[in-house]
Amino acid sequence: MSGPTVEISNVHKSYGGKQAVRDLSLTVDPGECLALVGHNGAGKTTLMKLMLGLVRSSAGSVRVFGDDPGESAAVRDRFGIGFLPETVSFDAAMTGTEVMAFFARLKGVAVADGMALLERVELADAAPARIKTYSKGMRQRLGLAQALLGEPRLLLLDEPTTGLDPNLRQAFYGIIRELCAGGTSVILSSHILTELEARTDRVAIMNQGRLVACDTLDALRDRAGLAVRVRLRVKQGDAAAIASRLRSSADLARVNGQYVDLACGLGDKMMVLRDIAALGPDVVDVEIVPPTFDEVYNHFCLKEDRS
Ligand code: ATP
Repeated sequence: MSGPTVEISNVHKSYGGKQAVRDLSLTVDPGECLALVGHNGAGKTTLMKLMLGLVRSSAGSVRVFGDDPGESAAVRDRFGIGFLPETVSFDAAMTGTEVMAFFARLKGVAVADGMALLERVELADAAPARIKTYSKGMRQRLGLAQALLGEPRLLLLDEPTTGLDPNLRQAFYGIIRELCAGGTSVILSSHILTELEARTDRVAIMNQGRLVACDTLDALRDRAGLAVRVRLRVKQGDAAAIASRLRSSADLARVNGQYVDLACGLGDKMMVLRDIAALGPDVVDVEIVPPTFDEVYNHFCLKEDRS
C-alpha cells in the first residue's frame, strides 16, 4: 500500500469539557519512527487511542492506512496494528508461553510465531515460568512481543522502555530499527528524552493537547536557536587571563579555577573555536556541549505556554 501510514488532520478530542487533543495534524510515513513526547496529560495516549480507533475524534479526521480506524476494526485486522499500552498487565497465573499462545490465537496468528517472538525479546528461557515471577522489565518485553504478533505495519508503543535496564533498552531499539527498515511505522511515547537521540527519525512535542513542534532533532535544535556551551580547560591559575584574551563573540558564562565556560550561537561555533585555537598551548582541552534534548523540549513547551 502506498501513501502515508497515518494521516491526522485538524483533530480535536474532548472528554466532557476537557480538551485532550487540540487541532492536531500529523503524518507518519511507512518505515518511519516517530517519538511522541510531552508532559503528563499532554495528550499522547489519547492520540494513540485515536489511531487505534479506541476513541473517536470530536472533530477533524484520522486516517490509518487510508481508512478511519474508528469506523472499521478491519483497519486493525487487515493491516495489523500492534499496540503496547502504558500499563501492561497479564494474568499472573499464566506462563509466558500461555500468554503468547492466547494472544496469537486472538490475532489469528500461528502459535509458533509467538514463540519465535519470545526469543526475539530474550524471554525464551523464562517462557515456561508464570508471569507472577516476572520482573517489570520482563513483563514489558512480553508486552512488546505481544504487540509484534502478526507483523504489524504500524506499531504504537506507549512508554515502552519504562522498566527496561540500559542493555534491554538498547536491544529494544535494535528491534525497532529492524522493524522500520522492513517498512513498519513505529510511534512511541517516552519521558526519557535522552534515549531518543539518534534512535528516532522525528520527534513530535505535545503540550496541553497541541502539537507544538514535529521535526528531526537536529532541525528542532536549529529552530530553537539555543546556545552551544564551550568549556576550556586551561593551566591552573590561567583561567581569568585566558578569558580576557578571548576576542570572539562568545558570552563568557563562568570562570572557575582551571575552566572557562563560554556560550555561543550554533552559527558562531567555528569562529569561537578558531579564536580558542589561536590561544595556543595555554588551552589544554576544549569540550563542546550542544543543547540537550531536555533543553530543546523545554524551549518549545515554554514558548507555547507563553503564547
Ligand atoms: P501521560 O504522560 O501521563 O501518560 P498523556 O500525554 O498520555 O499523559 P492522556 O492520557 O492522553 O495524556 O491525557 C490527556 C488529557 O485527557 C489529560 O488531562 C487526561 O486527564 C484527560 N483524559 C484522558 N483520558 C480520559 C478519559 N477517559 N476521561 C476523561 N479525561 C481523560
